[in-house]
Amino acid sequence: MIQVAINGYGTIGKRVADAVALQPDMEVLGVAKTRPNFEAEMAIEKGFPLYAAIEDRADQFAEAGLEIAGLVDELIADADVVVDATPSGIGAENKTLYEDHETPALYQGGEDADIADVSFNARSNYAEAIGVDHVRVVSCNTTGLSRVIAPLREAYGVEKVRATLVRRGGDPGQTGRGPINDILPNPVTIPSHHGPDVETIFDDLDIDTLGMKVPATLMHMHSLNVTLEEEVDADDVRDLFADESRLFLIPERFAIDGSGKLKEYAMDAGRPRADIWENCIWEESISTVGRDLYLFQGIHQESDVVPENVDAIRAVLGEADAETSVETTNETLGIGL
Ligand code: NAD
Repeated sequence: MIQVAINGYGTIGKRVADAVALQPDMEVLGVAKTRPNFEAEMAIEKGFPLYAAIEDRADQFAEAGLEIAGLVDELIADADVVVDATPSGIGAENKTLYEDHETPALYQGGEDADIADVSFNARSNYAEAIGVDHVRVVSCNTTGLSRVIAPLREAYGVEKVRATLVRRGGDPGQTGRGPINDILPNPVTIPSHHGPDVETIFDDLDIDTLGMKVPATLMHMHSLNVTLEEEVDADDVRDLFADESRLFLIPERFAIDGSGKLKEYAMDAGRPRADIWENCIWEESISTVGRDLYLFQGIHQESDVVPENVDAIRAVLGEADAETSVETTNETLGIGL
């Protein structure tokens, strides 16, 4: 059994912990938190040993009536691998802790690419992370773009990608974020940082991205234009995507007109936290004009990277090839709407 430590138990960390607990070959050794809050209480209720991430604040857990198993240092020392899911920039500060214990580490997309030896997306470059000690699981948006670009490159060749990312202002729990009533070019400079981030997965890709922020919390929305190397029928692209396990083609008959109904569908489907691990591509939006492909896709920012983290764990430990890992992860989580 792979013993997994999760350092940073927030939006991403708690989802990764639940996903790891479902794997037949993994166990949650413990989760580290900075302070006792509802998520700390839930971790204990779920049976995850709780560790204090900051020594000076360890007493706060006992004061809140929460029993901790120890300090993060002990957790990292005992783990086979650590998933760092701390806020952007903190992962870089934690790197020496992981190096000191020679514990392989996964970082999240908020960290700079140079924190790790490999940026990871299971569909696109799983094999590059095999046996690598420091791997960055790319952001929600980069994950969403990579899952679409990889099969297109393989099937038709990609000359150029142009993507406009309409980004949620904040996650539902991020009460301090905005905008509240505005539409921001964000970042206002072009290209946005997302394009170069996708190039950490495909280093020879030509991609320009533009970002905006809107007052929404549920999902991101991508408007995508891919110039292929050959003329392709839209139906063929639909067939290509239908074979991809982490692409969900929203059928026209579902009458899902936006991210609100998508989340409603996820709730009806009994998804934990209404998570949608798959890219959600509107089937009727898939169109071609000559060599240009167009589509709209919804990306659930809080959850699409979760199966990728599970696969990255197997990759860094050399425990499975891409196909076996993805299949196991998909089956245990119930991926495939
Ligand atoms: P979050 O704020 O929801 O959770 C981070 C958790 O880490 C919090 O519980 C926080 O208290 C804790 N923490 C802070 N400092 C810590 C420390 N020193 N040691 C241990 N824990 C510490 O953040 P998140 O949204 O889960 O983001 C985590 C990472 O995942 C970031 O790199 C982010 O860019 C990336 N990411 C986030 C999303 C998203 O939409 N939320 C999507 C993909 C990737």
